[in-house]
Amino acid sequence: MISDALLRKLGCPTCLEAAGCERCGRAAAGPDDYALRAGCACGGPDKVALHADGEDGLRCPACAARYPLDRTGGHVDVSPRSAVGAVTQYADHEFHERLGVVDAPPVLSARVKADMMRGLLDLKPGDSVLDLGSGAGKFALYASDCGATATGVDIAPFFLPRAAATLDLVIGDLRRLPFRKGSFPKAYTLDVLEHLDEPGVCEVLLEARRVLTPRGALFVYTHAMESSKLASFQRAVNRLAKRLGRAGLIDHEREAMRKSDHVNAIASHEHFEALCAGAGLRVADRRYYNVVFKAVIEDLLLRMIEQRRRARSAAPSAPAHDHAGESAAGAPDAHDAHDHAPRKPPSRFELSVAMALTWLLKLDVVLFGGIRTGPFFARLEGLGSPAAGERK
Ligand SMILES: [Zn+2]
Ligand SMILES: [Zn+2]
Repeated sequence: MISDALLRKLGCPTCLEAAGCERCGRAAAGPDDYALRAGCACGGPDKVALHADGEDGLRCPACAARYPLDRTGGHVDVSPRSAVGAVTQYADHEFHERLGVVDAPPVLSARVKADMMRGLLDLKPGDSVLDLGSGAGKFALYASDCGATATGVDIAPFFLPRAAATLDLVIGDLRRLPFRKGSFPKAYTLDVLEHLDEPGVCEVLLEARRVLTPRGALFVYTHAMESSKLASFQRAVNRLAKRLGRAGLIDHEREAMRKSDHVNAIASHEHFEALCAGAGLRVADRRYYNVVFKAVIEDLLLRMIEQRRRARSAAPSAPAHDHAGESAAGAPDAHDAHDHAPRKPPSRFELSVAMALTWLLKLDVVLFGGIRTGPFFARLEGLGSPAAGERK
């Protein structure tokens, strides 16, 4: 969807206005100028607003770049016209499809993350929230189902049909966000920062800070490269899962694929705090994610069950299919037998079992959320905004 409200928020991803403070208020002098000006302690200049260019496009009056509006596809492409930094594997269509995203409410650890986001951001009906790295739009749909107005931005244009129909969607680079200053009071980024190198993490934080309102908040779920004593339990479960994977009892490949382009630039929580401070943000609240219940239930038991079911459905009755012809339309069911086939949406029964197990998984945060470890949920606020206790 491309709403009028979204069009008003868009700006050129790479062009900054001339106005700014003494340090950043001047016309761009070169490619490195962007980082200097956008990173100014004052918050940097605003991005240049885009003008309508016919029915199906927007144009930047400064650099003359044209950004197409795909009204049928339900998104606008405001990605920088030349590449910024390293390109993530998530932009690869096939890779994306193989992740098998289905239109269903998040359950298990995805739901734990979604509900931590909802809680730490205090997400309420009517709130406007930006999903940084929205992927297919699953979390943005969840935010929208909670009554918020969600906007998704992702570098890859592979959105769930319901997301394209009901949410504002933008193709863009998180390191060059195509939004004007102060466009959103709330934003979140889940499972994204670990895919970026350190300059990339800094840029995303900086851009997020700029598009947030002065009292806005950013929720982050990612991990630092450290671990608690509890993590040795998780590693033992992972080793077991790998062994079961080799024995064909578990599908270990999907998880390995999901993590295959992790860069893991955040060394420690102090390192993350320093990166935040550099972007004008501070960690106002943080909970750690020690995955004890998740490791046993989601990473081990459920994957064993899933693998068993897959093995059963791949048994003699399933038709053999050759790889060349398999992406031809018309036989989606035959795909289920295949390891990397798109998953079917869960049944109502499966969903309620998964929701019950989700409550068990939430114990990981309730019981162990105070024990310092790598994965964490954080609420970030602007350095200048009032402390949590002073907010009404
Ligand atoms: Zn400035
Ligand atoms: Zn421009």
